[in-house]
Amino acid sequence: MAPGRRYAHGAAGRGCLNSLTDFCFDTMMTTANDVQVSFEFFPPANEKMQATLWRSVKHLESLAPRFVSVTYGADGSTRERTHDAVERIVRETPLTAAPHLTCIGAGRGEIEAIAQEYWNMGIRDIVALRGDLPKDQPDYRPPADGFHYASELVACLKGVADFDISVAAYPEVHPEARNADADLDNLKRKLDAGASRAITQFFFDADLFLEFRDRAARAGIDSTLVPGILPITRFPQLEKFAGACGASVPDWLRERFAGLDDDVETRQMIAASVAIEQVQALRAEGVDEFHFYTLNRSELTFAICHALGVRPGKAAA
Ligand SMILES: Cc1cc2nc3c(=O)[nH]c(=O)nc-3n(C[C@H](O)[C@H](O)[C@H](O)COP(=O)(O)OP(=O)(O)OC[C@H]3O[C@@H](n4cnc5c(N)ncnc54)[C@H](O)[C@@H]3O)c2cc1C
Repeated sequence: MAPGRRYAHGAAGRGCLNSLTDFCFDTMMTTANDVQVSFEFFPPANEKMQATLWRSVKHLESLAPRFVSVTYGADGSTRERTHDAVERIVRETPLTAAPHLTCIGAGRGEIEAIAQEYWNMGIRDIVALRGDLPKDQPDYRPPADGFHYASELVACLKGVADFDISVAAYPEVHPEARNADADLDNLKRKLDAGASRAITQFFFDADLFLEFRDRAARAGIDSTLVPGILPITRFPQLEKFAGACGASVPDWLRERFAGLDDDVETRQMIAASVAIEQVQALRAEGVDEFHFYTLNRSELTFAICHALGVRPGKAAA
């Protein structure tokens, strides 16, 4: 099965495609220039990775993203490197930088100090996360003045300054959640605490996002849900990521990449076509904002943006 729609969703989107005319209309709509994008990078660990990151930032800069974000180690392990990458983005590009900030292992004072420092350097956007629980501490408890959940982190950040905060959302339900409704309640708490939007974990079937968007709407969530798009560079790596975060890898996707482990060029083409189909399917359902997990590479993300009509010199109004 291809990544198209099987799910007849509710009021949040435009409805299912019924005819070839609808399909042509929606395909034309995907070239309209009202799409917003954001790009996620991770802080480089050495000089070679640093060079790759900066080539990618420079390449994607021309697409005028809403923001570019830089990830943060769950236990604060990348604190300096995340800060350095963010500082360089601010210093050397016209881009809006959004550092990720996690709260596992951190006390309130440390979080407030990091947030204040970012605010003082002109940062207004933050992606606020709890972070994964440490695998070697099954009975992990936060420090006495620390945070159990991202909703508490969001409230703390809003207390420091009026940041524009993005949080995480899970179309396939976060692995620790009691159930899907409890996970949605948590998302609502994060938005009620002051977050402006939620970026989703990656997924490959457009239906997963559309069903999630409808469930969220029924639960009274009216903030923007931004689909997180992961262009696939290496399939075995993807399966590992997906296993770790509870995202499903559909059989049709496995089949498309079968036999391509040693064929970089064909793999790139398949990866581009899969992701373009995915964003087109979402676009046809009214989605106009996308977040790309770039893994510090720009080629696939650039191509997918091109297909969405996001091109150099054509920033969304
Ligand atoms: C867009 C995006 C970016 C990310 N960036 C990073 C990054 O830079 N660094 C990193 O380490 N990780 C990152 N992650 C991964 C994220 O840290 C993990 O998924 C983490 O396990 C959960 O973080 P959260 O902010 O969603 O946590 P929370 O929203 O706190 O939720 C964690 C779990 O607790 C449950 N929960 C929340 N509140 C309660 C409550 N009151 N009672 C009971 N259960 C509750 C939730 O349902 C969920 O199962 C990212 C994820 C996404 C989607």
